Amino acid sequence: MKQILVDATILSVLILSGCLAVKSKTHSEITCSSSAYRKESRRDIAEACELFRSIEKYAGEKNVKSVFVPLNELGILLDRTACKASLYHHVHPDAKIRKLAEEVEQEIAKLATEISLSRPIYEACAAVNVSNESTDTQRLAKRLIRDFKRAGVDKSDEVRTKIKQLQEELVKLSQEFSRNITEDIRKIRVTPAELTGLPKDYIENHKPGSDGVITITTDYPDYVPFMQYAENDQKRLELYKVFRQRSYPKNEQVLKDIITKRYQLARLLEYRNFADYETETRMIKNATNARDFIDKISAIAEPRARQDYAILLKRLQKINPNATKVNDWQKTYLTELVKQENLRIDSKELRQYFQAGKVRNGIIDMVCTLFNVKIRPWNTPVWHKSVRAYELLDNEKVIGRFFLDLYPRENKYKHAAHFTLVSGVRDQQLPVSALVCNFSGENDDTALMEHDQVETFLHEFGHMMHHLFSGNQRWILFSGISTELDFLEAPSQMLEEWTWNAEILKKFAINRKGEIIPPQLVEKMVAAKDFGVGLDKKQQMFYAALSLDYYNCDPATLDLTRTMQALQKKYAPYEYVPDTYFFASFGHLDGYSAMYYSYMWAEVIAKDMFSQFEKAGMLNPVMGKEYRDTILAPGGSKDAEDLVKDFLGRPYSFEPFAKWMEGGK
Ligand SMILES: [Zn+2]
Repeated sequence: MKQILVDATILSVLILSGCLAVKSKTHSEITCSSSAYRKESRRDIAEACELFRSIEKYAGEKNVKSVFVPLNELGILLDRTACKASLYHHVHPDAKIRKLAEEVEQEIAKLATEISLSRPIYEACAAVNVSNESTDTQRLAKRLIRDFKRAGVDKSDEVRTKIKQLQEELVKLSQEFSRNITEDIRKIRVTPAELTGLPKDYIENHKPGSDGVITITTDYPDYVPFMQYAENDQKRLELYKVFRQRSYPKNEQVLKDIITKRYQLARLLEYRNFADYETETRMIKNATNARDFIDKISAIAEPRARQDYAILLKRLQKINPNATKVNDWQKTYLTELVKQENLRIDSKELRQYFQAGKVRNGIIDMVCTLFNVKIRPWNTPVWHKSVRAYELLDNEKVIGRFFLDLYPRENKYKHAAHFTLVSGVRDQQLPVSALVCNFSGENDDTALMEHDQVETFLHEFGHMMHHLFSGNQRWILFSGISTELDFLEAPSQMLEEWTWNAEILKKFAINRKGEIIPPQLVEKMVAAKDFGVGLDKKQQMFYAALSLDYYNCDPATLDLTRTMQALQKKYAPYEYVPDTYFFASFGHLDGYSAMYYSYMWAEVIAKDMFSQFEKAGMLNPVMGKEYRDTILAPGGSKDAEDLVKDFLGRPYSFEPFAKWMEGGK
């Protein structure tokens, strides 16, 4: 799922995300034995603790060299250790390493909290005179002081102890919440006849057991096609329900605890609630603006949503003449039917053109052309035999490295996400990333992908390029995707547009017979893409309102299910289905807390940035360079609002988004 993002969450925990390097070592090296990982992580944590204490004790003159440089080194060390732990925890095939990594994450987060509450370090930062320093160093000073204050460093000892305790409890709760989601795979049983409508390769991969029954799980490769193609309405309802019962009831209390502890934290820091605290450092600035934004988008989408809904209902009435409403478990199936019939788009025909190997290589080639870079295989240890490694070169010089872990396996992270492995620091270390997805094609490059998987792949690839291109900062705090959290999806959302263009697709959308995707099919695809967009935006605003409202209140009176039902009624196009508890498996309610609105906010800006490529050409290397230099390479060294202004030559506007919603273009 594109809307999942792990890349930024771990960094947001760490005020100082950086790291010193033992300079001779490649920090991206993958550890395959648990004893080696234990030794390595112990050493890194000990080194970080030692460095932290020495910075705290430092009593000499306070300047950039004596304060910011050692802090940067500490950041580098923490970043390296935390990022590796996060990746291992989510993807490593060795259960011992996953467990160990989870412990390392807890320790690092604990240490990061301690650093963020260190009054000697805060005072040292405040004492550094930066008036004659470079712009990025001045920004660093401001950011450090702001973040220290937000962490509560200027509060009393008693309050700081409470904050520390809450932070530690929150890390554990957060891990529990996500573990409950990963581990809870539910199943339904169907007969071969109940697979009617599904593509041939899906049926071939789901053979009945000795009892003649087929098991369908809630994992995406099972779930998504079933909801899209299965003719049997009852079975779709059954799968929909178990999908929305995942992690319930376990996660109900866990989420309630997360929300309550975050509220307590915000109150200790003298904010109205956690939603206000979280939005303060974003482009949107406060919870009231977020609420206004959600309502504004919801209103813009309303007319389109009504049209879309009427079409779906009419189609449903052909199947069931008595139907008076469209249900949530029917929307995907009906949308697919309408696309096949009215818009003459057949996803089964479409997917013939997306062979895993060609898509993978095609996207790599496309990125190389657009940004004028080279990508070549990298010979290095990996954590699973299906993982591939690459190097990114600019002017024949390696500027970053990455791993592609694209296929599902047991105990692996279930969504699609970009993971930072190393954040780049000028003259010290190159950036390293990993893309973690769940596509088909592990042992077969001719396995077929859905078009939306292709889009997801490019989306995540976009995060990766952002991370790698911005890896040349002096201060690790500004390295990688360290821009405001409500902007960071914009570059990836913009890049999705490239998967809807015939000229781009013809390079890699080629079927097993060697035929290129016909331009007419792409045209139809584009026409079909926007069908249902009004409904989709309304649904997204339901999720955004859910995320905001859970945190924009006093949790003492919060009933998770009731609030969800009320918001679903207000924003979503489909009714609540009894016995479902979507919040229990919606990972973003933890990771993004109140800020799920960010996706739409970023989409508004992405539409505006894309309008420049529409004019200049989507593979125009001059525009690609301009974009890379102004938006991606600065990382977090400038406010997002200014990055966008630098690229557009004017402030961003809502107009391209609103026009698209009105006209369907
Ligand atoms: Zn994303």
